[in-house]
Amino acid sequence: MLMGLNQYNELVYAQHAKIDDLYRCPECLSELIIKKGKHTTAHFAHKSSSLCIRNRYKRESIDHLSSKHDIYKSLNGLIQVDMEYYLSEIDQIPDILINKKIVIEFQFSPINLDLLISRTEGFKSLNLQVIWIGKNAHYHDGMLYLTIFQAALINHEDRTFITYNPTTKCLIRYKDVQVIDQHKFLANKEQIVWRDLLEITNIREIPSLFLNDCEYYQYIRKCRKNRSVLEPTLSLLYQSGLIHKERLDIIGIIVPEQIYILTHCITWQSYVFFEIKNGTFSFERCLEFIKFRTFYNNSYSRECVLKKAIHSYLKIIQVKFISRAKISK
Ligand SMILES: [Zn+2]
Repeated sequence: MLMGLNQYNELVYAQHAKIDDLYRCPECLSELIIKKGKHTTAHFAHKSSSLCIRNRYKRESIDHLSSKHDIYKSLNGLIQVDMEYYLSEIDQIPDILINKKIVIEFQFSPINLDLLISRTEGFKSLNLQVIWIGKNAHYHDGMLYLTIFQAALINHEDRTFITYNPTTKCLIRYKDVQVIDQHKFLANKEQIVWRDLLEITNIREIPSLFLNDCEYYQYIRKCRKNRSVLEPTLSLLYQSGLIHKERLDIIGIIVPEQIYILTHCITWQSYVFFEIKNGTFSFERCLEFIKFRTFYNNSYSRECVLKKAIHSYLKIIQVKFISRAKISK
């Protein structure tokens, strides 16, 4: 932790703590020791192992401590910044609390997604907005590669994903995030400063995209390798008469709502296409068929997302059918 109480009951920042003074934990009031070193951000630790909430709440790595230190140093004095402020109503300690309104949480190592969601819900119940910051991600040629946990830190409302690297001091905001595959995302990268986190990001409308041939065939190859009854894509494509011919442009459309959908666009569109062609389409069964992504802010409506996704998809293929009919006339 970075804050301790001195003998006058004042909160002291670890960096300013004097080695010979006595400091106590703001929560359990037990004695603290100061840890300072060349390669570590000055911080406090309980002298004897304790059951204090601060120890139970999260394990703080050196990267975590130094990230908290960096944001605090940059914003303190400009706006109201509270570090490690214990919110007794929900028994949570956000890393940083800004203007008693915005919580900043660094989450560099994966935690259970249910825990991530429940912590977010806790903050929301106090009307606090939370910004989760992840560890640097691999980004190349406009493509962002994320683990399922990192992807859960995406803000699906404004389609941003934020990372911080305490070694290089690089704070990055990925914008206009859209999904290509389970772990592959399209995004625009920009370097920002801490203050930028407080601005509201303009939400741009995301267009529907057409999966390119390379991605399309790569996925089909993956399905072929994975010859399992649980992989329905190939059989759906066969049954719809879509596999033998050259690729048709009615499968493999990335609709704006794809960000919420874990099932590959080729798979769910083969399903929707097949069921509609057969006259057996049912929204409820479709809802069961499709797997959705888990986000920290997980209270979005699956029904609503799926309705919109199918609507976006059908609108596009309708246009394609009409233009094809015109050409063949
Ligand atoms: Zn304590």
